[in-house]
Amino acid sequence: MAGYLTRFAPSPTGPLHLGHAYSALTAFGRAQAQGGTFLLRIEDIDRSRCRPEWEAQIYDDLHWLGLSWPEPVMRQSDRLPAYAAALDRLAALGLLYPCRCTRADIRAALSAPQEGAMGPDGPVYPGTCRHRPMTEAGPQDAIRLDMAKAMALSGSISFCEYGPLRAGLHSISLRQMVETIGDVVLARRDMGTSYHLSVTVDDAAQGVTEVVRGIDLFEATAIHVLLQRLLNNSTPTYWHHDLIRDDQGKRLAKRDDARAIVLYRKEGATPAGIRAMVGL
Ligand code: GLU
Repeated sequence: MAGYLTRFAPSPTGPLHLGHAYSALTAFGRAQAQGGTFLLRIEDIDRSRCRPEWEAQIYDDLHWLGLSWPEPVMRQSDRLPAYAAALDRLAALGLLYPCRCTRADIRAALSAPQEGAMGPDGPVYPGTCRHRPMTEAGPQDAIRLDMAKAMALSGSISFCEYGPLRAGLHSISLRQMVETIGDVVLARRDMGTSYHLSVTVDDAAQGVTEVVRGIDLFEATAIHVLLQRLLNNSTPTYWHHDLIRDDQGKRLAKRDDARAIVLYRKEGATPAGIRAMVGL
């Protein structure tokens, strides 16, 4: 069996905060405990929000925290051909369609309240463009996965969660996927890929055996496992950890610069102090 391999995959859209430190330290600690490998991956597909200075700060903060990883670091902005190839495979299976709906179109189509189920990416798509063939796809279109067809092809899906919050084997049926997640966007019109597609393709390309990340991404895991099935990749195990919250109990976001590691550093915090702040 291949050795343990995990990754920390931040997006350089702002300073790393205590929540990122917790996630990176947890992943690094698990890799060390298993005698395995910890990778850093830069998730910079959203070129409008990513900045080189934030990327440089990520390396600096993580080194300061005592983490190390093999070079070179994978950057998603270098991987667009791999995502395009994965999309082509899914298109060849007849599972994709182009969609030109705006958010407002989707809201209008979902006027009946019972049709407004929320999935990990927002409201479950009502299927307005599902009849459209891929031959019609143009620059104004996003590309969606036909969830019912995809699940019919893959059969029910499951993954093994080892994190303390939801440990166990999780199985998701076709009906659940259609009703609670729906036809997710796999390629956004402005970037030719999406978080779901890129993360799946890259975890497979890097041989990740366990994904360590925040529990806010737990619901998205079913999408990733489905894509692994469809692309003939193996499914890693998962470890979703709790989120670090502010004093009001709200989860930290990149805009919570007050909790940025770089600010704690300026105020004289030590790496051990940061560990203590996140309860490690
Ligand atoms: N890039 C994602 C983020 O910064 C994390 C993706 C993942 O760990 O699957 O939230």
